[in-house]
Amino acid sequence: MLDALSDKFEKILKKLRGQGVLTEHNIGEALKEVRLALLEADVNFKIVKDFIERVRVKAVGQEVLQSLTPGHQVVKVVWDELCDMMGREKAGLALHSQPPTVVMMVGLQGAGKTTTCGKLGRLFKGQGKRVLLVAADPRRPAAGDQLSSLGRDLGIDVHRVDNAQATQADVVRICQAGVERGREQGFDLVVLDTGGRLHIDDALMGELVAVKTAVAPHEVLLVADAMTGQDAVTMATQFDQKVGLTGVILTKVEGDARGGAVLSIRAVTGKPIKFLGVGEKLDALEVFHPDRMASRILG
Ligand code: GDP
Repeated sequence: MLDALSDKFEKILKKLRGQGVLTEHNIGEALKEVRLALLEADVNFKIVKDFIERVRVKAVGQEVLQSLTPGHQVVKVVWDELCDMMGREKAGLALHSQPPTVVMMVGLQGAGKTTTCGKLGRLFKGQGKRVLLVAADPRRPAAGDQLSSLGRDLGIDVHRVDNAQATQADVVRICQAGVERGREQGFDLVVLDTGGRLHIDDALMGELVAVKTAVAPHEVLLVADAMTGQDAVTMATQFDQKVGLTGVILTKVEGDARGGAVLSIRAVTGKPIKFLGVGEKLDALEVFHPDRMASRILG
């Protein structure tokens, strides 16, 4: 996970840590390398520029703490700024006192949305919560089959109505019925697995807006493939503008050596990363901790 970026940072910072006295020139040279490493990691250009500027101001301007060598101090500034970039909000998902908590999952086909619905279901079932998964893509029976199969494996209920000709209104009704069932039958968490497409299109966005308006979910989470780097960031921006997101779940992070999406999505969109998908298995879901990720990157 983020190995390529982490290797580069380790080398740059090792040099810095080793220096007893740091001049503005030393710091400037190190920051040039940090800038390059972030750009090579596919971090958004503007985010990199702002990041470097903030680190420079803090690192050059600060008083030398007695307990830290100057090199370590710069590393601490970089660490702090990485945490800020990835967000300080509490990640994960808090259930509401008035059940059910309704979570709407959105994203393009193949990003890992259905798998992630299963992962969330498993996580909360493990905490003794009752979870209902709703197949909200009635035109694609294969998507419903996948969710049903996950539900069977996990012992989690699935609400499903297949309808190849479903209109937008039908999709909205299915979601409303799922949420209603969740309420009547005392479920703690209802997860809507909405339709995905290969590309963002107006019909998909219109349907998602209609569902969101009708069921007023507590969370709207974009599931995006971390390996797609800046494409994931662009997607998050578009979904947020058109549908409105409360957070992001990045998938396939275990295979993402560069880390562009992990590092920039919160800074560009203002929406926090809530979880990371780190494998195909259903237990491969981690709550996102910016501080731990920053430490991992800095090695
Ligand atoms: P959907 O079309 O967005 O619902 O995507 P799926 O849930 O069907 O997932 C697409 C593929 O991505 C499947 O092969 C999943 O096993 C895989 N996948 C999902 N999440 C992860 C992850 O975190 N890591 C890896 N390596 N694969 C994942």
